[in-house]
Amino acid sequence: MEPGVIRKLDEVVVNRIAAGEIIQRPANALKELLENSLDAKSSHIQVQVKAGGLKLLQIQDNGTGIRREDLAIVCERFTTSKLSRFEDLAQIATFGFRGEALASISHVAHLCIQTKTAKEKCGYKATYSDGKLLGQPKPCAGNQGTIISIEDLFYNMPQRRQGLRSLAEEFQRLSDVLARYAVHNPHVGFTLRKQGDAQPALRTPVASSRSENIRIIYGAAISKELLEFSHRDEVFKFEADCLITQVNYSAKKSQMLLFINQRLVESIALKAAVDSVYATYLPRGHHPFVYMSLTLPPQNLDVNVHPTKHEVHFLYQDEIIEKIKQQVEARLLGSNSTRTFYKQLRLPGAPDLDETQAADKTQRIYPKELVRTDSSEQKIDKFLAPLIKIETGVSFSSPQEASPLPEESFRVTVAKKSREVRLSSVLDMRVRVERQCSAQVRSILKNIVYVGCVDEFRSLFQQETRLYICNTRSFSEELFYQRLIYQFQNLSEITINPPLPLKELLMLSLDSEAAGWTPEDGDKAELAASAAEVLIKKAPIMREYFGLRISEEGNVESLPSLVAQHRPNVAHLPVYLLRLATDVDWEHEARCFETFCRETARFYSKLDWREESAGAHSRWTTEHVLFPAFRKYLLPPTRLKEKIFELTNLPTLYKVFERC
Ligand code: ADP
Ligand code: MG
Repeated sequence: MEPGVIRKLDEVVVNRIAAGEIIQRPANALKELLENSLDAKSSHIQVQVKAGGLKLLQIQDNGTGIRREDLAIVCERFTTSKLSRFEDLAQIATFGFRGEALASISHVAHLCIQTKTAKEKCGYKATYSDGKLLGQPKPCAGNQGTIISIEDLFYNMPQRRQGLRSLAEEFQRLSDVLARYAVHNPHVGFTLRKQGDAQPALRTPVASSRSENIRIIYGAAISKELLEFSHRDEVFKFEADCLITQVNYSAKKSQMLLFINQRLVESIALKAAVDSVYATYLPRGHHPFVYMSLTLPPQNLDVNVHPTKHEVHFLYQDEIIEKIKQQVEARLLGSNSTRTFYKQLRLPGAPDLDETQAADKTQRIYPKELVRTDSSEQKIDKFLAPLIKIETGVSFSSPQEASPLPEESFRVTVAKKSREVRLSSVLDMRVRVERQCSAQVRSILKNIVYVGCVDEFRSLFQQETRLYICNTRSFSEELFYQRLIYQFQNLSEITINPPLPLKELLMLSLDSEAAGWTPEDGDKAELAASAAEVLIKKAPIMREYFGLRISEEGNVESLPSLVAQHRPNVAHLPVYLLRLATDVDWEHEARCFETFCRETARFYSKLDWREESAGAHSRWTTEHVLFPAFRKYLLPPTRLKEKIFELTNLPTLYKVFERC
């Protein structure tokens, strides 16, 4: 048999197929046209529709108009007045300019443009087919601005036409797109009209406001429940302007109006994150109304993942989404009416934890953390004997395999979630962390792969083709510090059961070398008693803000849980407590939080390496707990740069091997 002849597809057909990818239904065309009119600085935009936009979709604006000499080429592919060099694609302040919209439309519909600029005396009318101007533009009367008429959409793609649902549904989609742009652009007056109808289907006034437009379009039930807020983030360089319903409102239908850099887009991840916040408060199957406008540095945005530019990806997506989630949650809890609602929901039995923390709840502290060898710590062993007994017979390999201790030993209780932090001292600490964050180190951390531990202090990790060594202790200390200030007032607790007597712990700490006690310092028992007194007096602060509980009788009942699955090394608990009494500035609020967090972070960052099996556990923790947490949470301050060192990279290694 003869082989089939390979023919080059007709160019017109190729273009039509490409255009059909971009314009999949009337609503896609409308979105492009609205964006063009807005880009042209219009203050009035009127849309007329016949048969769901398939017979006619016409948009009239009062923007800049198109110059006569440009009419010949506006419908060629890749012609745009908005970018001229490839590099502009990344730099241009808005996105979506690929000069494809009008060209695409002209391949799948009859397109006519009537336009007049301020300079020209009269307007011009031009018709297009398959990307080309038909004949010459004809002079005509008209006001400044542009009228774009699209007739018989998909006349040359019968299958596409058939594939569309009802005309009513197409109209609904057109109306939905217009509604969203109207909310986002309240300074512009929009009208949507079905041809022949006396009344417009939708109309918003010029110089309106977002909430007013939401009222007009979506109804007062939504607009009166709106909570407005903006958030500017210095670290990830984004701004969010939001209007979200309070939890008193809910609907079966989920509505999220999302704009990124002024373009209507969708983000499944962001929507899921916002929904998850509301899920705690709304009845099952009910949703909020959310309007959100994000502004990101354009170079961080990748719009070309999808031909309709509907779906976008952006740099630091996870972090940004997490931040927005926190904001939404904080705002919901901040509003008073919500608070009562929140309390109602917190009746016994109501779920009050998110999944990660739920997992945390079943964690137990691991046996080997309690087994010590050196002298002062031997005493700790003796002292902690009841706990150690519980462990006898537990063979330990990795925490996952370790048999859990009996219920009554150590347990994590999840804090009542998400109390909004209003203390400016803490907010200041956060701002400082965010200001000091090195974007460079952060971007390295974002996709590091753990390689191995060198010793107690150092680990190796890989990022792309580079191999680094870092100071694990410095990194984890910073991590724990940041967790304390970001989870402030919301920390889960590691319950210590039975509780440990504070005074005896303090006595033990005075025995340790770290305390550096000498007889001149005074009687040990007296010192321990006065340190205990300080801590008992300050217990409410530690309990309220940090989840560290010391009872009035002087028992240590719980410690904060800073990172899921991480437990501090109890051997260092006595010295930690002593330092809390002596080194924390309890008098001044800001200093108090700062010194408390630093001491706590230091305590938590000490892993145990003294024994073979303890070392194995610490390796496990470094790989499975600390490194994932670095990736997820750590905002590395610039000074941590000194704690990372690039050992080698692939190109260098290639050079080495080439010589061999
Ligand atoms: P892009 O918007 O990516 O530049 P389009 O195909 O959507 O590509 O539009 C091509 C060009 O036509 C635009 O760059 C702009 O100069 C011009 N244009 C389109 N619509 C309008 C309008 N309503 N008013 C003024 N100029 C317009
Ligand atoms: Mg455009």
